[in-house]
Amino acid sequence: MTAMAGEAGREGARPPRFVRDEMMKRLARWLRQALFGRRSRAAHARAARSVVASRVAAAIKAWPALALVFAAWSGAALAAADEEEYAWRRAVLVKQIEADVHATGRYIGKDRLDARVIEVIGAVKRHEFVPDSEKPYAYINRPLPIGYGQTISQPYIVALMTDLLGIDEDSVVLEVGTGSGYQAAILAELVERVYTIEIIEPLGERARTRLERLGYGNVTVRIGDGYYGWEERAPFDAIVVTAAASFVPPPLIAQLKPGGRMVIPVGGRFLVQQLVLIEKAADGSVTTRQMLPVRFVPLVRKK
Ligand code: SAH
Repeated sequence: MTAMAGEAGREGARPPRFVRDEMMKRLARWLRQALFGRRSRAAHARAARSVVASRVAAAIKAWPALALVFAAWSGAALAAADEEEYAWRRAVLVKQIEADVHATGRYIGKDRLDARVIEVIGAVKRHEFVPDSEKPYAYINRPLPIGYGQTISQPYIVALMTDLLGIDEDSVVLEVGTGSGYQAAILAELVERVYTIEIIEPLGERARTRLERLGYGNVTVRIGDGYYGWEERAPFDAIVVTAAASFVPPPLIAQLKPGGRMVIPVGGRFLVQQLVLIEKAADGSVTTRQMLPVRFVPLVRKK
């Protein structure tokens, strides 16, 4: 009995279960109304569903934009990493060129090249001048194919030829054999104006577009036979020929300023060619000096 009384007493201290259930329901309803206003439970469920649905719809709508942002961001990050890698490779290439210059010092009569030339070799993006398939090799000290059986010259040779021209920031330079436009870009960084002639039309057009895109506003590309030079723009402080001729074209000598210099590979297609430095003295007399055995694609003539 005592136990029963005890039970009954405790039971009596709390409201019966049905009352508690009702209180809980009211509390829940009150809370719901306080939080979400006077709506039915079904309305709440609908509202909640529509919130979720609209969030999902918004996410789906935003997805292409988000994907674009992500792609742009990752593209930019990758490009930046590539540029960094290329800059690093250029620095290594400069060291190799310096070593090659040192090793060939006996031929070229100097131990080091003009610091400005070295600097632009370290700055100009050679990978922009080669086909995509050659980009991994852009900073190897070798010539590379650029299509139409032609090549972009070896960086060491580009550096050496540029150095031998003895140019400064006021110089006006003629290049025969635009090819990729790389040598023209190197010159453009160092001189006032570059005129360059290419005989293979698609190569010349491509080089022109490329040089424009990269911002080399002081280069003019012309399609034609460079054997005759560029009469309307002559005379030049310096002339560089990047294809091998069997003899030095007389029009080019004529278009060289007194005090000017020309660098040209001379020799037959299957014979050893020599890189020749030609200097025109103030009195117009011409001296030539063989610098180094080289191998270039031939200077061709329009038939
Ligand atoms: N300077 C170039 C290397 C070019 S290779 C560079 O930096 O990439 C030599 C180029 O000379 C070839 O593109 C070839 O088509 C061109 N060429 C050959 N004979 C020519 C001529 N008679 N006139 C103009 N360009 C010529």
